[in-house]
Amino acid sequence: MIASNLDKRKYKKICIIDSNAKVGQKIKVSGGSKCNITNEFVTKNNYLGDREFVQELLKKFTKDDLLNFLNKNGVNPKINPKIVKGTYFCNSSQDVIDMFLKLTSHIKKYLNTVVVDLDFDKHFKIKTNSNNIIEAKKVVVASGGLSYAALGASSIAFDIAKKFGHTIEKLEPALVGFTVQKEQFWFKNLSGVSMPVHTFVEGKKFEGSLLFAHKGCTGPVILTSSLYWKKGKMAIDFLPNKKIENLLKGNKKVSTALPFAKRFTSEFLNSLNIEDKAICDLKANEIKEIEKLKNYEFAPAGNFGYTKAEVTKGGISTDEINHENFESLKQKGLYFIGECLNITGELGGFNFQIAFSSAFVCAKNI
Ligand SMILES: Cc1cc2nc3c(=O)[nH]c(=O)nc-3n(C[C@H](O)[C@H](O)[C@H](O)COP(=O)(O)OP(=O)(O)OC[C@H]3O[C@@H](n4cnc5c(N)ncnc54)[C@H](O)[C@@H]3O)c2cc1C
Repeated sequence: MIASNLDKRKYKKICIIDSNAKVGQKIKVSGGSKCNITNEFVTKNNYLGDREFVQELLKKFTKDDLLNFLNKNGVNPKINPKIVKGTYFCNSSQDVIDMFLKLTSHIKKYLNTVVVDLDFDKHFKIKTNSNNIIEAKKVVVASGGLSYAALGASSIAFDIAKKFGHTIEKLEPALVGFTVQKEQFWFKNLSGVSMPVHTFVEGKKFEGSLLFAHKGCTGPVILTSSLYWKKGKMAIDFLPNKKIENLLKGNKKVSTALPFAKRFTSEFLNSLNIEDKAICDLKANEIKEIEKLKNYEFAPAGNFGYTKAEVTKGGISTDEINHENFESLKQKGLYFIGECLNITGELGGFNFQIAFSSAFVCAKNI
């Protein structure tokens, strides 16, 4: 994005360095290969980090600016709210990559080239794994976070930032599934089952699909919940928009009365040591236990880690970055954009929007 928006007259010698053999590998896998590129309802409230900074940035390069840029270059994302409200998906992620390749065809690309260090002595010296030194007057670091090393992720942005005196806000995997404690091992027996739920975490409520997994639980609503979860309890409403007292009536068996797959009800009842019997035969304390389906509190054991996390929470403090052009306030000529900054969005196109907004604003004001 940044390379395709730099003024060609001003910047004659630019290069892109990427450790992967091909550019845009996260774009390639994103949104089930259909790149969920932005969100109709994006606001500062969809992000963790300095929200005033985010608001300013989203005004400078809005979701409409991004959509116009894409449309002008032949990519036409459409809203598909199936997974998250307001999400724009492309026809294919490859269309986005092809667009950027076309826009940057004049730019030298060092692929399969890992940056291992950056020094400054009158100008920058970018050290690569092949012991090559690439010299530059300006360096834009857009190397993302720690998530998905298989797609090229590395700690280089944070290493460089630290070296030049920047503060790094605590890094953690986010948009990731939860592992569970012993009391919730019944989740594992339901691996592959998915259902609509509401979650409650740190005073926020999210709606969407939960997917049970062999390690615990995942799915869109859990991924977004993971962004806000701080060690401790969260809750799930397994019966969103339904009143449980209306369901727990009469002489039907519990598994017939509750609107779930039999497998789910059976595992849930087993976890409570309650027999699947007629509702009229349930004891008051058993009814109370079953009513927990409306507010099932549990403390996740942890999460699936960086190998499965879509993003890295935390990052380079935006207090030490010039808001106008993303230049480091510690080192002239050094810029940081995208996910390496301490701005992390929810699931639904919010992270690409920030990556592209920061790249565009940097390119225009560098
Ligand atoms: C599976 C998955 C699905 C996702 N789906 C979505 C989605 O649908 N919508 C959304 O908004 N967000 C999605 N995200 C998040 C989104 O991809 C990132 O937030 C976004 O790509 C960040 O952009 P970036 O340019 O900052 O970094 P990246 O896209 O991570 O790009 C960083 C580049 O730097 C290169 N690099 C790293 N270290 C080095 C080094 N030492 N030397 C040289 N090169 C290096 C990497 O190879 C990579 O090409 C998804 C992430 C994952 C992992």
